[in-house]
Amino acid sequence: MGVTRIKHPSHGQHYLLLKLPHEPYWCNGCMGLGFGPCYECEHEACGFYLHEECANAAPSTSHPFSKCSLKFHYNAPQGDARYCDACGEDVSGFVYQCSHKHPHDYHPRCLKLPRTLTAGDGLILQLRKELPSKCLRCGRRETSNRIQGWCYVSSPDRYCYHIACVKEMILEKWRKGYFTPDGNVNEANNLALQTFNPSREIALPGGRSSSKATQIWRKAATVIMVIISALFGEPSALISVLVQYWLSS
Ligand SMILES: [Zn+2]
Ligand SMILES: [Zn+2]
Ligand SMILES: [Zn+2]
Ligand SMILES: [Zn+2]
Ligand SMILES: [Zn+2]
Repeated sequence: MGVTRIKHPSHGQHYLLLKLPHEPYWCNGCMGLGFGPCYECEHEACGFYLHEECANAAPSTSHPFSKCSLKFHYNAPQGDARYCDACGEDVSGFVYQCSHKHPHDYHPRCLKLPRTLTAGDGLILQLRKELPSKCLRCGRRETSNRIQGWCYVSSPDRYCYHIACVKEMILEKWRKGYFTPDGNVNEANNLALQTFNPSREIALPGGRSSSKATQIWRKAATVIMVIISALFGEPSALISVLVQYWLSS
């Protein structure tokens, strides 16, 4: 099978190859984390990666959730501290921005999030601009930086999570050193993993008896896992096991 090989202006000196990396990577375009297929510099020593969506970002785009006409920029022209209106994370690289006085910003990857996701046993999650109910992770409708932020919600509106909150679950683990820089599980944190209390991580919808609660909780974990795959790309087997471990007891 042929290898997809491109040149990209952000790293014009070398070719980039489309690869499925064994490890999580940080995209040198949007500066976000990724697990799935990406473009990697053919010279591994560069350690240069781009999300597929960042490498193939069109010069302009639109999104059904936004009335703005969005233009691609390597760096946001209207500077200062900017947040993605979809996921609430910082914008510090590739971005789509509108030309309004108080512009909207979106990561290229966030604009490509699937409108629907299917979790096991036929549960359908829909991407929504506004939360129909409180986020089960943070208990609020806005994200911590007061951006409304998009969410995935199952119908009938039982499982509702900000994409910001699911993203933050993973990034928080990263910052706490659950991964080594090469993406492996950090041995020094095994104890932390063993004492990890999942019931603190995921709030359950409604008050339920404990066996029922376990069932609902398992479903919540499945839902979160599907959202994680949409946000970061399909995780490798190792990361997948690790995340399942965080989510389950
Ligand atoms: Zn990116
Ligand atoms: Zn290179
Ligand atoms: Zn706008
Ligand atoms: Zn975003
Ligand atoms: Zn939330």
